[in-house]
Amino acid sequence: MSGTLFIVSAPSGAGKTTLVRALLARDAQVKLSISYTTRPPRAGEQDGRDYHFISVAEFTAMRARGDFLESAEVHGNFYATSRIWLEREMAAGRDVLLEIDWQGAQQVRKFFHDAVGIFILPPSMTELERRLRGRGTDDEATITRRLQAALAEMRHVVEFEYAIINQELEESTSDLVAAVHAARLRLAPQQARYPELFTLISQE
Ligand code: ADP
Ligand code: 5GP
Repeated sequence: MSGTLFIVSAPSGAGKTTLVRALLARDAQVKLSISYTTRPPRAGEQDGRDYHFISVAEFTAMRARGDFLESAEVHGNFYATSRIWLEREMAAGRDVLLEIDWQGAQQVRKFFHDAVGIFILPPSMTELERRLRGRGTDDEATITRRLQAALAEMRHVVEFEYAIINQELEESTSDLVAAVHAARLRLAPQQARYPELFTLISQE
């Protein structure tokens, strides 16, 4: 098994979705986990592509059944990662990317010690606010709530291996591609990819 698990976190509006989409367009090896959420879909979001949109009752039942690897309440809605999907993909040796918050990241690391955390920061609070408003998908109360939560979320950057400052999109995309590439070159996944070579060179 040589798959790498990537965790990408950011405060809402920092550009996580935009950057992850750009990464997936450049790197066909990475598979994105589609989370479950009780949040209503935003304009343009599709069930099964952006999220699996479910009711609170469905969420509670799935969580009780043990269907989730991790789950968290973020900004008043529930979010979770499918345990079954993730275990299947990882067992098949695929690289998987989770777009989850810091609470989920902490839970996932308990099971996957080698997970690679990438945190995306906005260049400033002013720019974060501008992006949240510019996206035009959230009402005023939601924007205020997300901005207030952003600083506390960003403090968790110290729990991640990589920090990307998303100022200029093209540059940040290259940074994300580079972080993913660097993580794949770590010794353990390389040993798993090239067992014969590493067996050969370990012989006296
Ligand atoms: P998140 O998924 O982190 O909540 P989004 O990817 O939805 O954030 O981005 C929030 C808004 O900021 C979107 O309108 C997006 O087009 C814009 N955006 C993302 N990255 C940049 C950037 N580097 N420069 C300017 N605008 C950006
Ligand atoms: P949004 O509603 O803007 O799509 O996402 C809000 C927050 O929920 C983001 O910080 C995002 O990373 C987080 N999130 C999305 N999916 C999951 C998930 O499956 N688990 C956890 N813990 N957080 C998630």
